Amino acid sequence: MLTGSKKIVLACHKNPDGDTLGAALAMMHYLRQKGHDVTPLVPNDFPAYYRWLPGANEFVIFDRNAKKLRQALSEADLLFCLDFNSLDRTGNMAPDLKNFPGKKIVIDHHLEPSNEFDHYFSVVDVSSTGELIYEFIRSQGEVSLINRDVAIAIYTCIMTDTGSFSYNCNHPRTYQVVAELIDQGVDASLVHKLVYDTFTENRLRLLGYALSHRLLVWQELHTAVIYLTKDDLKKFQYQVGDTEGLVNYGLSMQKINLAVLLTEKDNQIRMSFRSKGDFSVNRLARDFFSGGGHKNASGGTSRMSMEITLDKLKEVLEHHKEALNYSLTL
Ligand code: 5GP
Ligand code: MN
Repeated sequence: MLTGSKKIVLACHKNPDGDTLGAALAMMHYLRQKGHDVTPLVPNDFPAYYRWLPGANEFVIFDRNAKKLRQALSEADLLFCLDFNSLDRTGNMAPDLKNFPGKKIVIDHHLEPSNEFDHYFSVVDVSSTGELIYEFIRSQGEVSLINRDVAIAIYTCIMTDTGSFSYNCNHPRTYQVVAELIDQGVDASLVHKLVYDTFTENRLRLLGYALSHRLLVWQELHTAVIYLTKDDLKKFQYQVGDTEGLVNYGLSMQKINLAVLLTEKDNQIRMSFRSKGDFSVNRLARDFFSGGGHKNASGGTSRMSMEITLDKLKEVLEHHKEALNYSLTL
């Protein structure tokens, strides 16, 4: 399919993270070297701390310029779907992707991919989609095309999707790939600073407020919940990305196996789930909160009020009390 010069569109998921953005940029820089015309698409805007990524200014954002995005889709031969397992994960952009007449290729590492794609490179047991992009390029015999821009983009995928090598990070292969990326000129500690050490004052104060005023600890359920209302977000002049990573603070407590972050946005509650150990938050999100993801990291939504959502969450977890009661040992 990649023989000859093609027009290719690369799609990211909604509320884009470092993996979906990095995967798209890595593919963009790689495919352009092969002579393809490539446009990266994203449903909504991405956090400011990803703007430094080489090529980030080329994203066509559906929420901002649907016309341009539809134009790119209408001219394209191929669509790569990167870091999501179902077209619904692209929010408002989903109907346009569903109607795309060309071949749809998914490269992803989420559980249970849908049947909407023509070709699958879906591997669950891997750090990130970015790592799969590396393997894809390698499988084409084109490691030589992994230049600095490609390498930085893939490194960002791996770093962000493993929480800086703290989860999904037990595959020796990941470190072999990382070694090669650093060989190509990635400054690992600089990338870390560019992504993680760029808080605004408001973001840091929101974190403090969330931990001191909005943290619930349900000891008997081994669960910590942080909830932020619309007013809370307004008070700290919330910007996209400001709550990224917040959910992990709950999980940093001893005896806590499940952490949940609830954020009130527009007319729904966004939910982020993280677990350590055996409890599957993919199942929790899928079965009760219209979402999904991975075993230890998932997300979902609730269309009920914050109060009712918290009640529902507690009730659901009461039924999983046994499954949540374990301790990690070596
Ligand atoms: P986050 O909590 O960082 O938004 O998402 C954690 C993980 O769950 C990510 O891998 C993300 O792709 C997945 N995820 C988040 N929200 C949803 C959702 O609404 N539906 C599904 N299927 N997966 C989600
Ligand atoms: Mn990912």
